[in-house]
Amino acid sequence: MTNVHQFDVVVVGAGGAGLMAGLYASRGAKTAVISKLYPTRSHTGAAQGGISAAFGNTEEDHPEWHTYDSVKGSDYLGDQDAIEFMCNEAIDAVLELEHMGLPFDRTPEGRILQRNFGGHTNNVTGKPVQRACHAADRTGHMILQTLYQQCLKNKVNFFDEYQVLDFLIVNGKTAGVVAVELATGELHTFQAKAVIFATGGHGRIFEVTSNAYAYTGDGAAILLRRGLPLEDMEFFQFHPTGIYKLGILITEGVRGEGGVLINGKGERFMPKYAPRVKDLASRDVVSRAIYTEIREGRGVNGQNYVYLDARPESVMKYAVADGRTNLDGSPITVTADELLKKLPDIVDFNRVYLGIDPMTQMMPIQPTAHYTMGGIPTNKYGEVVIDDKNTVYPGLYAAGECACVSVHGANRLGTNSLLDLIVFGKHAGLRAAEYARQADFQNLPDDPTAEARAQFDGFRSGSGKENAFDISRDMKKIMFEDVGIYRNEKGMKSAIEKIAEWKERFKHVRVTDTGRIFNTELLNAWELGNMLEIAGVIAECALNRTESRGGHSREDFQNRDDVNWLKHTLARQVNGRLQIGYKPVVITKYQPKERVY
Ligand SMILES: Cc1cc2nc3c(=O)[nH]c(=O)nc-3n(C[C@H](O)[C@H](O)[C@H](O)COP(=O)(O)OP(=O)(O)OC[C@H]3O[C@@H](n4cnc5c(N)ncnc54)[C@H](O)[C@@H]3O)c2cc1C
Repeated sequence: MTNVHQFDVVVVGAGGAGLMAGLYASRGAKTAVISKLYPTRSHTGAAQGGISAAFGNTEEDHPEWHTYDSVKGSDYLGDQDAIEFMCNEAIDAVLELEHMGLPFDRTPEGRILQRNFGGHTNNVTGKPVQRACHAADRTGHMILQTLYQQCLKNKVNFFDEYQVLDFLIVNGKTAGVVAVELATGELHTFQAKAVIFATGGHGRIFEVTSNAYAYTGDGAAILLRRGLPLEDMEFFQFHPTGIYKLGILITEGVRGEGGVLINGKGERFMPKYAPRVKDLASRDVVSRAIYTEIREGRGVNGQNYVYLDARPESVMKYAVADGRTNLDGSPITVTADELLKKLPDIVDFNRVYLGIDPMTQMMPIQPTAHYTMGGIPTNKYGEVVIDDKNTVYPGLYAAGECACVSVHGANRLGTNSLLDLIVFGKHAGLRAAEYARQADFQNLPDDPTAEARAQFDGFRSGSGKENAFDISRDMKKIMFEDVGIYRNEKGMKSAIEKIAEWKERFKHVRVTDTGRIFNTELLNAWELGNMLEIAGVIAECALNRTESRGGHSREDFQNRDDVNWLKHTLARQVNGRLQIGYKPVVITKYQPKERVY
């Protein structure tokens, strides 16, 4: 066999989770990180607003408050043991990044500066608390660069621009992965004792999204095909503030700095929906509020958007209206220069894409598909678990957005994802290296690349009737409309039928580029296969869950139903059909209550 590599631990993905996992695994085991993108192009680099940790640097805060907010934000579907674990580790995790050299913004005394973000509150007063640590509005970029430098320093082996296509199982254990080298089109087999998936989310199945082109759900789809389950796939987060039509994210940090939402009648509407925290309610609540305003005819100029107003004079006006002051009680003052320093990229995006200056004009925004809450089920050590008893799958790990620990439950709080990457990436790396120390390599199958080859050959020899782009465009539109912010039985059933039709058409997709070098047409077609798979799982799980909870909002079942639905969904493919099962939610301290914001 040619192109066979052997590593104790293979990490698939070089975003925040993959790099953290790679860094920690490499300290105890021979480790490779494989990434379809050059590492610093991973979506983590697009994260803007911040990473949460209850330092209490600017006002009182506690990890217990962070835990409770995250449980509440998850609409009680998050596993409380894992959430508590993450929030308790947050301070050390952020300090570790700081010590690695991450240039956080600072208070005049030199502490890490923090800002408000939706759903993060002072648990006594119920008011927003400053918990998000940030480096301007480029926090993810800084994390990615910092971790990549650390990995290079620690001599982690990188296989950049290698796309993993298959996961190898031998004797019911992890045996390795198969990848294609993009520059040559050659297939490579990576034999490994342990594999960590850190492949990010799948927001590209929706028409309007903040997600990178690479967010096609590869990791989840590969494991689904190999018979592993996916958890809580019906839960997908829509972020309230994407640039109208483009979906590009306007960070919640803008509202954290005092920006407010305004409808077409010039009214500030969030106090109506969330009287206490207003524009800083959790994302599912704010997205639905915007959608409701639009549906009831209060979009701007009758269109599908509202305004986000972060002009300095508005910020100051609404601070007075809300009774917000500086910590010493003095009135909040803010200048365009100050805002520009805190939100440089946001100002730039508006100028470049819209020709708008947010310091003097309001920004047109609409909810945008943003974050994958569901995914590959793991425990809090990043070990993949495969059933309702949390049985660990030998040698398989997942971390970051592709994983479901579950710390985000039905709705993630802003800034908790970057934290999730750092905390669970680290533990997945540690556990994988520990496992690799006592495990043996599994013998590779006789023809390890057979499955991957068959998938590619299908596109090359297809009957040629269908074009991947057409199917992809139709899927994104229908998923956004019928399996999006609001869902109902009729829409979802029709989406499921269409997905079945698209899957059929997909079998006849033919790739016209027969070249081997950077054949993006071939890879796009393969990624569409993953997206169709994932879209099908989301739609079926969403139809199955007859309640509304967090990001899953049903018009025909508008209430949360804890009696029947306080449980995780576990979906797996059995003989080509999706089989839906369940798993209990871990509840430790906080009994489910109605969410009031
Ligand atoms: C615009 C935007 C802003 C955000 N802002 C914030 C924020 O301020 N705070 C916060 O907490 N969260 C934020 N988030 C969410 C957060 O950034 C992401 O959830 C997180 O960065 C995901 O990290 P990851 O390591 O799981 O995946 P990524 O960083 O996307 O990395 C995925 C990696 O997997 C690789 N990969 C994928 N498929 C394959 C394959 N088949 N073979 C090989 N490699 C593969 C890719 O090359 C990539 O390296 C934001 C998200 C977006 C989209």
